[in-house]
Amino acid sequence: MPSSASEITPIRRRGLMLVLSSPSGAGKSTIARSLLEHDSSFKLSVSVTTRPRRASEIEGVHYKFKTMREFEMLRDSGELLEWAEVHGNCYATPRKPVEEAIADGRDMLFDIDWQGAAQLREKMPDDIVSVFILPPTMGELLARLTRRAEDTPETIEKRLKNACLEIEQWRDYDYIVINDDLGSAFESVRSIVQAERLRRERRPGLEDFVGRLLTGKNADKREES
Ligand code: ADP
Ligand code: 5GP
Repeated sequence: MPSSASEITPIRRRGLMLVLSSPSGAGKSTIARSLLEHDSSFKLSVSVTTRPRRASEIEGVHYKFKTMREFEMLRDSGELLEWAEVHGNCYATPRKPVEEAIADGRDMLFDIDWQGAAQLREKMPDDIVSVFILPPTMGELLARLTRRAEDTPETIEKRLKNACLEIEQWRDYDYIVINDDLGSAFESVRSIVQAERLRRERRPGLEDFVGRLLTGKNADKREES
């Protein structure tokens, strides 16, 4: 009979920084939302942005909405881990919550564009796992942007124009997921997370585990009693 997990000391591991990027409308926010619902060890990195709030969005939950002047002050005081201009607005990742989470062994989820992903990759190469989400076709991308019905026709046109440039960045990512069927795409992302958590380099606690294993200290309770 296998030992139950509760009988073995949990193996200490480093937090994971999971970056999801895609052209606008490919479905990364939808996948990110599902991941947060299904996996309680993930916390969303809430970005700051100068973009106007959409009707469905809540301040502090989806974004922290800032004026350009407020954004510049945050940037100039070094409080941002990365920042980029996307579709004519500024977006950035606040530094403090990320540094706290990683030090604490918690996982962070980032819904950011390729420019931000590149900056994080350079600053924290050992902690980043990057996933690029592709739409199955450009027609479907337009259909999703239109169906979402949260942007003006001009904004949708701008986002579609930027999509080709964004898709060109796919080679820089560790994993590519084509979001045709949402359920399958979500399962792919979960599999990536599961495998990445098991990577040896991410589990400093293994040294101790194997040491105990070899000295018999990991013996389960049935053997102890
Ligand atoms: P992004 O965050 O990449 O801009 P969203 O997650 O907001 O994209 O998704 C855009 C729209 O497409 C939303 O209305 C969402 O419900 C829908 N959507 C996402 N994935 C799929 C899918 N696999 N099939 C059909 N519609 C999808
Ligand atoms: P949206 O306006 O649709 O919420 O986001 C537009 C784009 O900005 C998306 O590609 C999204 O991933 C990206 N984005 C959101 N937050 C950040 C951030 O903090 N930094 C960067 N670089 N991009 C972001």
